[in-house]
Amino acid sequence: MSITHRERTTIQRPPTVPLPVGIPRRRMRTVVTGGAGFVGSHLVDVLMARGDEVIVIDNFFTGRKENVAHHLDNPRFELIRHDVVQPILLEVDQIYHLACPASPVHYKYNPTNVIGTMNMLGLAKRIKARFLITSTSEVYGDPLEHPQKESYWGHVNPIGVRSCYDEGKRTAETLTMDYSRNEGVEVRIARIFNTYGPRMCLDDGRVVSNFVSQALRKQPMTVYGDGKQTRSFQYVSDLVDGLMALMEGEHIGPFNLGNPGEFTMLELAQVVKETIDPNATIEFKKNTADDPQKRKPDISKAKELLNWEPKIQLRDGLPRMALDFKNRILKQEDGDID
Ligand code: NAD
Ligand code: UDP
Repeated sequence: MSITHRERTTIQRPPTVPLPVGIPRRRMRTVVTGGAGFVGSHLVDVLMARGDEVIVIDNFFTGRKENVAHHLDNPRFELIRHDVVQPILLEVDQIYHLACPASPVHYKYNPTNVIGTMNMLGLAKRIKARFLITSTSEVYGDPLEHPQKESYWGHVNPIGVRSCYDEGKRTAETLTMDYSRNEGVEVRIARIFNTYGPRMCLDDGRVVSNFVSQALRKQPMTVYGDGKQTRSFQYVSDLVDGLMALMEGEHIGPFNLGNPGEFTMLELAQVVKETIDPNATIEFKKNTADDPQKRKPDISKAKELLNWEPKIQLRDGLPRMALDFKNRILKQEDGDID
């Protein structure tokens, strides 16, 4: 007798009904690719707190062992140095696929999106795990629709300097849907908007980490172009809540996960000044090519179907990030490598 995809995947999951006393419930086994990175390590913290067995796969291209070092002695935790462009075989229930450099400074040199995603989808198919991909608001390119809804198909330059990331993620979404439709893999797609928080790389080139590092180091904040371009900034714990609601829910997506609060880069610099250093200054620099002029998520779909919305506003999130950055900058200055 053939069984449906839903039945097959249900069999793989730990039982949700109460078990007789004395019979241990099998823990959820979860893999997080890119789990030593900024977002991944915060997700790992919550999964570990939930009681999962967590495997992190990371090649440390932009991630750091320090981000997950506090779990290394826990028998439920495993860290594997591995590049997802190579196949890997593991037995897990859920795959959070984050591995991919996310800063424009780093992603220009890396083919992770397409090949890595194909490998992880192949794994999900083989072991019948649920698969979540962290796509990006960059799939909307320099948008002609504002704010952006999931139904918008985007406005992307296919041959520009950002296109390996934008088109890479668009291809990753396509692959994800193909594996869902053709191979019956249970998939989830998150489109993440600019996210910030503790553990971002100090010098990863993204605007919030740049401004915060620069303000703390008493250097001018580098505003690219005229600074009137906009972004919407989400605190990392809100994103982790959204990713888990998506993984545990019944909807494939794609879902925008972002904070609809929209700021120009000049306004962001002003908030950094008000919350971190009133003496912070700015300096204007030439902008990079194909920089999207505005970006703001419409999150009504996630609100309705995932019962999710962000809670932490920029003025509250920035000081939390600054505390972490301050400690790490001090360590760096003392000669401890970060
Ligand atoms: P990050 O650079 O801090 O984390 C990425 C992690 O993936 C790092 O630990 C890195 O070492 C690892 N990695 C990269 N290539 C790899 C490979 N080939 N094999 C194994 N590991 C690899 O970035 P992040 O901000 O934590 O982003 C996580 C995910 O969220 C990415 O998929 C990114 O595209 C997506 N995203 C993030 C943002 C954001 O604002 N942070 C916005 C949109 C989408
Ligand atoms: N930006 C800036 N100063 C910096 C770094 C970035 O003004 O030091 C601008 C950049 O031109 C863009 C915006 O900030 O308009 C967001 O850039 P980021 O790289 O953080 O994210 P993305 O462009 O991928 O949204």
